[in-house]
Amino acid sequence: MDKKVLVTGAGGFIGHHLVKYLKDKGYWVRGVDIKLPEYEDTAADEFELLDLRRWANCLQATRGVDEVYNLAANMGGIGFIESHKAEIMHDNVLINVHMLEAARLNGVEKFLYTSSACVYPGYKQNTADVTPLKEEDAYPADAEDGYGWEKLFTERQCRHYYEDYGLKTYTVRFHNIFGHLGTYDGGREKSPAAICRKIALAKEEDEIEVWGDGKQTRSYCFIDDCVEGIFRLMQSDYHEPLNLGQDRMITINELVDIVAEIAGKKITKRYDLTKPQGVRGRNSDNTRLREVLGWEPRTSLEEGLERTYKWIYGELVKTGRIKEPVGS
Ligand code: NAD
Repeated sequence: MDKKVLVTGAGGFIGHHLVKYLKDKGYWVRGVDIKLPEYEDTAADEFELLDLRRWANCLQATRGVDEVYNLAANMGGIGFIESHKAEIMHDNVLINVHMLEAARLNGVEKFLYTSSACVYPGYKQNTADVTPLKEEDAYPADAEDGYGWEKLFTERQCRHYYEDYGLKTYTVRFHNIFGHLGTYDGGREKSPAAICRKIALAKEEDEIEVWGDGKQTRSYCFIDDCVEGIFRLMQSDYHEPLNLGQDRMITINELVDIVAEIAGKKITKRYDLTKPQGVRGRNSDNTRLREVLGWEPRTSLEEGLERTYKWIYGELVKTGRIKEPVGS
């Protein structure tokens, strides 16, 4: 019989892609979210609209499934997470403690938790040229205030559920996942999507606003690699937190230049130093990822950004925000 899995956050960016990936692998999939996927129909066998902050809904969501991929979270880009700390901690603590307990009571075998590079301490990320972050660097803890602390708390709770109850928990720490079918507007979008949107809307020679001085660094991982990494981890026996990201570090300025090149536009940058930038520098150390999975993300940043840019451009045309010349 086909394995039955639950994906929470299936109306969101990574969850929606993951549902498609698991369907292609032959699983029976139940998707749960408070909203339907925004940009295309779900591939799930069953999709339930449930608020997972509520205990009874978590019990309902986890009934009759072998595995849970728990991605539901109240989150967004840096502007959102820095200005909604109480709401984010409140909602995500409720979702995660209820989901773990409901999974246990319903006899779920495996439980995936999607943590974040935001668990890493600020004191390890205060220069642009940072040392890549290893999993053990998370302690002594000084996580991103709000969102990062909640992630760290739930990582611990996953560990305790494995040790105390034998529920096989798996924890990934994502480093900036991006790609098509992700939020690109409205305040919750992340930097690659925001930059693609701004450049798509810009003229052939134009100026766009960049948050901070553009010298802050990050690494970016394409969505196809992300879902493959998640799946591979769930087939492993590894129950400690594991980085999942790319280890090619670039500045925001370089990110803008790559997208401008893809768009074929001459873009100048106007820096807004009053906008939140998050930590100064961040990169993933993938040593353990390679050891544990014998694999690492492969899609180049240029290839991933090209697919993302084209999709966002297409959406802006579809919604009338870009007028294409007649006959083009
Ligand atoms: P997303 O916002 O697109 O998806 C999260 C989904 O959770 C949304 O569809 C949202 O509606 C749903 N949700 C929120 N509150 C809910 C509730 N009360 N009940 C049910 N569903 C609810 O985000 P994403 O980028 O797909 O992220 C998925 C997971 O990965 C999250 O746990 C996030 O914290 C984690 N993560 C993502 C990144 C990244 O770069 N995208 C980085 C680190 C961690």
